[in-house]
Amino acid sequence: GEKDGPRTVTVLGSTGSIGTNTLDLIARDPDRYSVEALTANGNVEALAEQARRFGARMAVVADPARYGDLKAALSGSGVEAAAGPEALCEAAARPADWVMAAIVGAAGLEPTLEAVRRGATVALANKECLVCAGTLFMAAVAEHGATLLPVDSEHNAIFQVFDFEQKSRVERIILTASGGPFRTWTREAMAAVTPEQAVAHPNWSMGAKISVDSATMMNKGLEFIEAHHIFAMPPEKIEILVHPQSVIHSMVAYEDGSVLAQLGTPDMRTPIAFTLGWPHRMAAPTARLDLGRIGTLQFETPDHDRFPALTLVRDVLKAGGACPTVLNAANEVAVAAFLGRRIGFLDIAALVDRTVERVAVPAPVSLEDVLAADQEARAVCTGLVGDLAA
Ligand code: NAD
Ligand code: MG
Repeated sequence: GEKDGPRTVTVLGSTGSIGTNTLDLIARDPDRYSVEALTANGNVEALAEQARRFGARMAVVADPARYGDLKAALSGSGVEAAAGPEALCEAAARPADWVMAAIVGAAGLEPTLEAVRRGATVALANKECLVCAGTLFMAAVAEHGATLLPVDSEHNAIFQVFDFEQKSRVERIILTASGGPFRTWTREAMAAVTPEQAVAHPNWSMGAKISVDSATMMNKGLEFIEAHHIFAMPPEKIEILVHPQSVIHSMVAYEDGSVLAQLGTPDMRTPIAFTLGWPHRMAAPTARLDLGRIGTLQFETPDHDRFPALTLVRDVLKAGGACPTVLNAANEVAVAAFLGRRIGFLDIAALVDRTVERVAVPAPVSLEDVLAADQEARAVCTGLVGDLAA
């Protein structure tokens, strides 16, 4: 309620786009929150500055080689410094009521699971967790009584209008997609796309990896798998609809013909605030939606020929087993190779496809199996990148 004392919060991936937006909301009402742990990959300067400003108890850098720098940057602050993958899990295991999971990629899986295992309220931005290990992850949420709140704008929208009491009355969910910067481009034109063009998203300001995912529409594919797990909906009840204005963040259709939507300006602070205030609404300083000024909302069915990632995700979900894990890992490797200018834009989906075909590992039953499939896929896709680049 309104009189609740400070909530203890941890932000995994605090230096990223979602992380800084989260801290922006926390900074507007600092007395309400107490920051337990903040983590980053390698940006020690930004991490130390955040940890001092918010009076965090612990700051963790994933790269063990940066431990000395972090310790020096935090000297005299009283903030505990730590480094390495195990320290990331320790940060997540510390007793914060609310954990923002905003590490990018499968690297966020183990720390996020750590927060889930102590039954925390987990605001989940890190969609790759669910693509890589959705069945295991959702089982852990149920087993440990964790509260999972989706941050991804589409899933947050669905969560807001999804009637969990009458789930059987839901006919389908409609994931909206902006279509990314190349929505209207031919495949020929897409072949020559540069990393700079791919990361310049028309509506949203985001980290590099998700921006490239949006450009290939793999992001919508990952979100398709994410929605399947969060809302326990079969793939045939999930539809993707291109909506270039990104005003309708997604919809739920019921068997009586009603379609419920959540709308807003494209600013991640709205879905983040929904999870931070949960179960109450809180104010967010975003631009207000002015539909009169926008005038027109457009919709298109997605083009699977120009965006093969959309077909790929449906196929891997149908194939099941380790296929989604392999797809996610291969995509991470391919996107990094594209950003490093080692492969072209259209090679991303092609290499993911080829990796999924080549890697034959059994269905994972444990976290170890998932991590092994992830590693195997990374090795195979790295080899394919090498073949292309040679
Ligand atoms: P980002 O690249 O801006 O930030 C990523 C954060 O994770 C940084 O703090 C970075 O230091 C940390 N990190 C990166 N690699 C790491 C590693 N190997 N180990 C530990 N920490 C690591 O990314 P972002 O845009 O903030 O996205 C974060 C997650 O949220 C992604 O899974 C993304 O798909 C999801 N998401 C983002 C948005 C958005 O608007 N940015 C929207 C929806 C979902
Ligand atoms: Mg999204």
